[in-house]
Amino acid sequence: MASAFGHAVLAATIGVNFSKKFYGWKFWLLGAICTILPDTDVISFKFGIPYESFWGHRGFSHSLLFAAIVGFVIVLIFYRKHLNSVESIGYFLFFTSCTASHSILDAMTTGGLGVAFFSPWDNTRYFFPWRPIKVSPIGISNFFSEWGKNVLLSEFIWIGLPSLVYISVMRLVKSRLKS
Ligand SMILES: [Zn+2]
Repeated sequence: MASAFGHAVLAATIGVNFSKKFYGWKFWLLGAICTILPDTDVISFKFGIPYESFWGHRGFSHSLLFAAIVGFVIVLIFYRKHLNSVESIGYFLFFTSCTASHSILDAMTTGGLGVAFFSPWDNTRYFFPWRPIKVSPIGISNFFSEWGKNVLLSEFIWIGLPSLVYISVMRLVKSRLKS
């Protein structure tokens, strides 16, 4: 994993692509939750499930199918009244992208096993060829360490700064288009 902070930044980065009519506390909060949701799979370690198994860390919960299921379930539960409108597609795309962004960042980290993007059809664990993000320790107590500090620094450089630049440019483009 990247850290929860590193992942949650992506909700803002993805959200800026959407029109203001989608915005609201539910949109941002659920989006941020989606970006960290796949890592609830670390509970599998407590049950002795091996890292590399289907239910293991970075397994099915990090797949693109899982991201789509999360997107669909959130629309079904929280945006039910939009179900028959075209907006439901926007919401679905947002929450699916937020969840999938988690796996994309994980595949760019320096440690652990890769990500099962195509599970359940292909349980191979994949990494991207370019992996600049320092892998985050698992567990909160391990995070408050030199390792945690290095992770935050690496995420600031490789996730925070690019996101900030992207959000600023997109906001500028949006305001120009409006005026
Ligand atoms: Zn993860």
